[in-house]
This record gives sequence, structure tokens and C-alpha cells, in this order.
Amino acid sequence: MTENTENTENIVIREKLKDYGQEQLLKFYDELDSVEKARLAKDIESVDFDLMSRLSQNALGGAVNGINTCEIKPIECIVSPEPGTQIFDEYYKKGLEVIRSGQVIAISLSGGQGSRLGHSGPKGTFDMQLASHKTIFEIQLDGLKELYEKTGTYIHWFIMTSELNNAETVEFFEKNSYFGYPKEKISFFAQGMIPVMSQNGKIFLEEKDKILRSPDGNGGIFSALKKNRVPELAEAEGARYAFICNIDNCLVKMCDPLFAGCIALTGKACLTKTFMKRSPEEKAGVYCISGGKPHVVEYTEISKEMAEMKNPDGTYTYGDANVGNYIFDLKVLKNATDKGLPYHTAVKKVTCIGEKGEKITSAQPDSCKFEMFMFDIFDYIDNVAAFRIIREKEFAPVKNKDGEDSPRTARNLYMKQHKIAMNTPIVEMDGDEMARVIWKKVKEKVILPFVELNTEYYDLSIQNRDMTEDFITVAAAEATKRLGVAVKCATITPNGARMEEYGLKKLWKSPNGTIRGILDGTVFRKPILADSIEPVVSTWKKPITIARHAYGDIYSAAEEKVEKGCTVTMVVKNSAGEIKNTVIHEFKNSDGIVMGMHNETSSIESFAVSCFEYCLSENMSLWFSSKDTVSKTYDHTFKDIFQKIYDNKYREKFEKRGLTYFYTLVDDAISRVMRSEGGFVWACKNYDGDVFSDMLASAFGSLSMMSSVLVSPGGYFEYEAAHGTIPRHYKKYLAGEPTSTNPTATLFAWTGALKKRGDLDGNVFLKDFAERVEAAVFETIKNGRMTGDLAKISTNKNAVTLSLDEFLEEIAENIYN
Ligand code: NAP
Ligand code: MG
Repeated sequence: MTENTENTENIVIREKLKDYGQEQLLKFYDELDSVEKARLAKDIESVDFDLMSRLSQNALGGAVNGINTCEIKPIECIVSPEPGTQIFDEYYKKGLEVIRSGQVIAISLSGGQGSRLGHSGPKGTFDMQLASHKTIFEIQLDGLKELYEKTGTYIHWFIMTSELNNAETVEFFEKNSYFGYPKEKISFFAQGMIPVMSQNGKIFLEEKDKILRSPDGNGGIFSALKKNRVPELAEAEGARYAFICNIDNCLVKMCDPLFAGCIALTGKACLTKTFMKRSPEEKAGVYCISGGKPHVVEYTEISKEMAEMKNPDGTYTYGDANVGNYIFDLKVLKNATDKGLPYHTAVKKVTCIGEKGEKITSAQPDSCKFEMFMFDIFDYIDNVAAFRIIREKEFAPVKNKDGEDSPRTARNLYMKQHKIAMNTPIVEMDGDEMARVIWKKVKEKVILPFVELNTEYYDLSIQNRDMTEDFITVAAAEATKRLGVAVKCATITPNGARMEEYGLKKLWKSPNGTIRGILDGTVFRKPILADSIEPVVSTWKKPITIARHAYGDIYSAAEEKVEKGCTVTMVVKNSAGEIKNTVIHEFKNSDGIVMGMHNETSSIESFAVSCFEYCLSENMSLWFSSKDTVSKTYDHTFKDIFQKIYDNKYREKFEKRGLTYFYTLVDDAISRVMRSEGGFVWACKNYDGDVFSDMLASAFGSLSMMSSVLVSPGGYFEYEAAHGTIPRHYKKYLAGEPTSTNPTATLFAWTGALKKRGDLDGNVFLKDFAERVEAAVFETIKNGRMTGDLAKISTNKNAVTLSLDEFLEEIAENIYN
């Protein structure tokens, strides 16, 4: 460009801008080099100044497309049919047919950035923080892939971007190889941008050589479709219907076959999805017919009476809220692209070039952005109907960083519609009394909404054990050997009083004893440490896990009362019949008692192996204690076995991880435990474990905060809560009184089992879910919301006591936080 032509152009532009009162656009012109000058000139030339003047006058006058509410009527509404009905089958079949024959395209409106979510890229690239880390684009693409599975046809997906994010969007798909979808079936086109103005009608600069513009709204789709010849292209590929949705709905049913089948069978020009408002006050625009055409009226625009008006079926007459999800007859859409839609003004904050050429951001919303709304197209289209869907199933908007319509609420809704699958079942052993009540509620409120739970169910209630002659307990243990993972509810171990209470045939053995007998193994009891529940021992910072050798010793001893004058000997007879006698005691001076107890080397060895394995899996050091100084054969054998197994099999692995194995006398152990920080596993002989685990449970807070797992050397895991059936609470529950029973240990039994199942099956989603549930328990307690037993001991002064139901409901809300 020569100096002369540059000057002439300069003069023409100056004149033009003067006419429209927009000379400020050239304020920095003289500072620009020739390339920048040319760029600005081109940018200015592309502005429709007549349009901008009109918009500015409208904005200043506050004019909106007013609607006369006196003459509005309800819109025709087709209710999305329920599965199992004839109409459902007809729509669905037709829908799949038109998809299969390539008659449907999908368009996602994705011109916006994720800035309101605190994300710097295009909104579609926002990671929903699911276990899969899928972005919204991938979630929408999943819908199209699913339809490919059903029909064998790849639907052509058009993504409407904007100048703000087109390059980044295309690059995102390129970089991820189009997520396995055929590249030629994903196309991008950019929507238009329109200048941003001050409230005095002055257009802003974004740079000294660039006008500040913003995307022209979702209604900008029509001119963008036209400009990019999308309808023509789609028609050439055989398409007849265009499905259109917003990018920010994680539950959108892409090209929903019911929706497609409905438009194909009813011959409507357009269907628009709606959901029924929950209450007349809900802040959502609703559909109506005004001037013979469909419109969306804002909740502020209709009267209270109209908002409250009901249909015979109880739904609100003006309650169909806009989902932002449409299907158009492509011919109608093509004609509509010629129509100009009205612009609506939004007053927003902007960042632009200030008076002195510096970048400034307004403190208050003070600038006009102009947007077209998609539903204004209905002014030009006849034969439109609403298609009412169920909100929870198809509408999970992601608009705000926190609170309503945030990633958190959307994730929760998404997970309820995409439950986690479990390929292998776990063994579920139900139990008694209050524990059984907790069990059912934990499943209903926390697990079943999110997991396609797969269990083999065994009813270990006292009644069923009595009825099956306790066969059910054996069957459950055998199932655990087969499936590897079990979760057990607390059960009654009957005594005389219980036998009478439940009219039992027999004093059935402890189910835990029976199961342990079959599985062998070690019980690990680990306290669950939560915020504001301080251990009684102030030095304890981390959990101390007790490993109890649950075999032999006094629990399966022979014992006798002995008369004065008797001599008691221990007789050992070997397989050859040789006998060895050892005198235990001569009762010369008094009568008394004796006990003969045993243990087996193989059981002690498997106890030791379980402990070392558990420590490796939990990354914890191991302590073991016994009374070897007094019991030079019995207890010393335990000590020797542990040491030998450690030296031969585990020393190297432990040292590599920086873990230790430490043996000490039981009395030394107890005094060291009291002064320790915690964070280790303490292996105990059967009796020591029984006693010390109860001491630890109450010192750490509450029995309801103690989890327990039986780890068998055969590689089976059985998870349970350490507490019992809580009969005192059960009586209250039966009397209809509210209880504040703590379900934490039961929840952790379930999460333990689900995590283990997830680990064994490589099911990361299941594992992620279980971890989130545990985190949700901690968060709920941290928020000061807890059951009565915890509120009593919590150091949080604002702790609130919740009922069992309330506590579980809050946890469920916090899972996908
Ligand atoms: P328990 O059921 O554990 O209850 C003892 C007390 O501890 C309760 O009364 C309650 O105190 C408190 N507690 C326990 N769990 C709680 C929770 N989740 N939330 C709030 N408070 C909780 O022990 P038990 O009364 O000695 O035994 C009852 C039955 O359970 C017996 O039949 C026994 O055989 C059986 N049991 C089974 C297992 C098992 O299956 N693993 C284990 C132990 C006992 P407050 O009343 O003061 O609120
Ligand atoms: Mg005990």
C-alpha cells in the first residue's frame, strides 16, 4: 500500500466513523505500523454500523421483545413416552431407522469458553473430574458412539465454535485423534462475533488495532450455518433432520432416537425438549404460544396466577422449561437461516483498551454485549411442539463454578444415570437388628444410586440361620472362597437370653467364628480418624491397626474344675503311640481350675504371612508382641515363626519401602503404643487382640468408627464393621423413635469391599467411587454434620446431630463433590 492510498482510505474511514460517532476507534491509529493500520481498517470495514446504531438505540431505550401476556396460550406438548409402551417402541424403532440411514446430523453449540468454571479453554474441553477424566466433548461423543453401536452408522457431528476458541477446539480433537471417531464425521464451523459497546453506544477496542467483539449468541447458529453451507452439506449426505444441543449439558441424549422417531413420525417442523418446573417460583423461562408462535417467557414476565395454573394431570400449564435441545426438519432449518433474528442486550463487564491505551477491566457490569436467542427462530416456523422429558435423566447443566448447575451437581446427576458396572459379584452377608437397618439404608441411599451393585446375597439373620440350621453361614463362607471378596453385616451371637428372645432351636455358634474357621486368616481392625474426633491419647495422630490372630489359645481350650488332691498332667501321644507326660499342677492345698490350650504352626505361619502382606498393601510397619519371657515354648514359638518368615520372605521388601518389623514383649508394647504417634499395625495373639482392640476403639473415639477386615492366606477378604447389632438403638427404632446411629463403620465395610473388588478386577471406576464415599464421610463430619455418638465427643463446637437418614443423605450429596 502506498502512502497515498493509505491516506485516502484513512480519510474514508474517518468520515464514516464520524457519521456514526465512532471516531474513538482511531484514537491510536497514528501509533500503529502499516500492517496494523491495514488490519484495523479491515476490521472497521467489516462492521455493520447501521445495525450497531440500531442496537445501541434499543439498548439505551431498554427495548426488549415485549410479550403480551394477555394473549398467550399453552404450547402443544408431546410427553416423551415411557419404555414398555407401544408409542415408545414406535418412536424408538423409527428413530434408530432414520439414524441408521444417515438422516440425522448432530450440532453442538460450543462457541463459549469455560471461564465461568475457572477453565481457560473452550467449555467442551472442561474435565468433569470423573474417574475417567472425560471432558464434556467426550461425554457428548459417547452418546454418538453408543448410537453407532446400535445402528452401525456414524452420525456427522458439527461443532459450532467461535473466533474465541475455534483453533483450540480443532487442536483438541486433533491431539486426541478425534477420540476414535472418524475424523471426517466431526466438522467445525465458527459462529459470528459482534462488536461490544459502552452504554453510550461507543464500540470498544480489544487491542489498538482490533475491535472488541463477543460471540453473537446461540441464535447466531442460523447465520453461521448458512455462511458455512452446513445444511447443504448435510443434505448432500442424505440428512433430513438436525439435532441441536448446548455443549454445557452433560446428560444430553445425543440424537435421542425417541426424539428423532417422534419428528419423523409426526412430521413436525421442530421439536424442542422441555422439562416440567418443580414449582411455579422456579427461575426458568417457560414455553407458551404468543401471537400464534412459540415463545419462551421469562419467569418474571408471567403473572402468579398463570405460573400456578395446572393441567388436569397436575402439571403446570405454563411449566415447560427450555432444555436447549432441539430437533429440526432440515428443510425448515435451511429456510430459517435466511431470517434475521433480533438481538438481545446483556450488560456485562469487559476488558478493553482504555483512554490512555492501557488494558482496563470494568469493575461493574457496564457494557453492552449483543446476543441472538435460538428460540426467536420460532417466529418464522409453524408446527413446533414441546417434547417433555424427565429433567434428572437428561438435564445436567454446567454453568457455574459452584452451587447450582455446577460441575458438582452435574457430576452427581451424570453418575446417577451412568451407574458403575461390576463384572464380578461380591458376597453380601446381611445381619441382625439395627445393623440390618443401617445396612439397608447404606445401600439405598449411598451405593445403589451410583453403582450397578452386583452381589451374591446371603441372609445371615438369626432367624434364617435358625431356619437353615446355620447352613447359610457355611454357604456364605464358601461363596467368599469362590468370589474372593465379602462384606458382612453385624450378626447376633446367641446366648441363653437371645435363644429365648428369638425362640431358637439351638445356641448357634458365632457366625464370625464359623466363617473364620472356614477362611482361616487374620482380622485387622483399623480406626477411622475423622476431623474433630480427637483420640483420647493425645499423641496418636494416625490410626493404629490391630491384627488379631483369630485362632486357638483360650478360645478353643479344654478346661476343667479340679478337686483338691488331684494331679493334673498334660499327655502328648504321638502317631507311634509313644506317650509323654508333663505335670501341670498338683492340687495339694486347694481345689482349682485348669485349662489346656493349643495352637498350630501352620495357623501361626499364616497369621504372620497375612500380617506382612497386609502391611505391604497398606504401607505400614509391623509390631508383634507376646509374653515369650514367661512362656518359653508357647509364646516363644510365635516369636520365632514371625522372625523366620520375616527374615526369609519379607525383610528385603520391607526395607526397600522403608518399613520395619519390630518384636517386643507385650507389656513393653502397650507402654510404647501409649506414647506413639500411631500409623502402624500391631499384631496380637488371640486374647491380646480381643482386649486391646476394644481399648483402641474407645480410645480412638467410638466403636462405630472401627472398621474390620478378615484377610485370609488364601487371598480372600471379608469386610465388616467392628460393632455389634446395637440392640438398644434397635428397640428405639422399633418403637418409632428417631435414632442417630452411626453408619460410618458399615459404610467403610462396603467401601473396603468395593475397593478390593475394584483392585482385583482392575475396575478403576468402582475404586474411585469407594474412595469418594470415604472422602464424603470425612467431609460431612468436617462440616460439623454427624451422628449423636460423634457430636458428643467432637471438638467442633458447632457440631450438629443428624439422624441416621440425614447423615447418609448428606454423605450421598457430597460423593461427587
Ligand atoms: P454393640 O451392638 O456394638 O453395641 C454396644 C453399644 O455401643 C451400643 O449400645 C451403642 O452405645 C454403641 N454403638 C455401637 N455401635 C454403634 C453405632 N454404629 N452407632 C452408635 N452407637 C453405637 O455391642 P453389644 O450390645 O455388646 O452387642 C449386641 C449384639 O451384637 C450381640 O448379640 C452380639 O452378639 C452382637 N455382636 C456382633 C458382632 C459382629 O457381628 N461382628 C460384633 C459384636 C457384637 P449407646 O447405646 O450408648 O448409644
Ligand atoms: Mg473384644
